[in-house]
Amino acid sequence: MIRSVVIVFALAFLVLSLLLMQRQDPGGPLIRTRMLMGTVVEIKVDEPDAERYETAVTAAFNAMERIEDLMSLHVPESDVSRLAAAGGPVRVAPETLEVLQVALEVAAASGGAFDPTLGRLVRLWGFADGHPRLPEPAEIEAAIGGPGLAGLEVDGRLVSQKSAKDLLDLGGIAKGYAIDRAIEVLAAAGVRHAAVNAGGDMRLLGERSGRPWKIGIQHPRQAGEVLGILELGNQAVVTSGDYERAFEQNGVHYHHILDPRTGYPADLCQAVTVVADRTVFADALATAVFVLGPERGMALLNSTPGAEGLIVAADGKISVTPGLREVVTWR
Ligand code: FAD
Ligand code: MG
Repeated sequence: MIRSVVIVFALAFLVLSLLLMQRQDPGGPLIRTRMLMGTVVEIKVDEPDAERYETAVTAAFNAMERIEDLMSLHVPESDVSRLAAAGGPVRVAPETLEVLQVALEVAAASGGAFDPTLGRLVRLWGFADGHPRLPEPAEIEAAIGGPGLAGLEVDGRLVSQKSAKDLLDLGGIAKGYAIDRAIEVLAAAGVRHAAVNAGGDMRLLGERSGRPWKIGIQHPRQAGEVLGILELGNQAVVTSGDYERAFEQNGVHYHHILDPRTGYPADLCQAVTVVADRTVFADALATAVFVLGPERGMALLNSTPGAEGLIVAADGKISVTPGLREVVTWR
């Protein structure tokens, strides 16, 4: 009896604390978080009387969840899971098609450095299920032995993959698209100033307290330190780093951004940050530039209209595009 009373009190206390944590200062921004796509997503609405946008924020999270349901390999009924199981053409949602189109655009622009057909390889390395391991060279050879991009066919809304050796994986781009969807939902509800942040990848709307949003760029070798601060407006900013999903074996650092040519982690960069109008594009481009390395990656950034970026090469050398130099304050 006493035990159940204690449990009831403990639960009531927990619920009350959670409710209090969800409240914000009167007049301050509305901040909400939800766990999505294996990461913490934070939505911040910086408006007077921000609480009136509670429903819009919930709708924005729900829109992101729909993208996860369509594009996650962890969801059995998702478009990508159905494609993996089908062995033939699958009719996908318009959203999946849109992501696929941007993926193919960035794949072409990067000469295949960005490759959304690397699912088998990503699975082999164990990055998809959170149990990474070093595969045998023969396994890697087999996993990159399919036709890849050439085997991916899009005909209207019908998508098919010629070879069972390949597997569609939108892990390098779909998070960005989900962020865009959330921003669209917020804007449609009348929100003018907001930030949607999914594990450090984000898109901004308007301003923060009447000034540009200030976004820190994570130092790739010093946890908790920033390389510099970007001042941004209605833009997306995405970082791909070799420190995000990684493991060490025999003193060698292995991470989740893979070079489609070798099947091993791309080793020319520590981190790449891309600023663009749309998060879906910035996400794919950051992954592509990371694989290409500082020289070819910088050439791709400079030849892509509307994209700016910062590259930290494997040796720590930093290079930036001219447009980014104008908005960064170094630390
Ligand atoms: P990015 O650099 O943007 O992308 C790296 C990812 O892209 C790799 O993890 C791989 O999936 C893929 N990739 C690797 N090399 C290349 C290449 N050369 N070209 C193109 N793509 C490449 N994580 C969980 O732990 N649990 C989940 O349930 C979960 N669900 C998810 C659902 C969705 C819809 C998405 C998009 C992601 C999900 N994730 C989940 C996270 C996912 O596993 C990746 O870790 C994440 O997408 C990597 O994003 P990033 O921004 O860190 O790196
Ligand atoms: Mg990416």
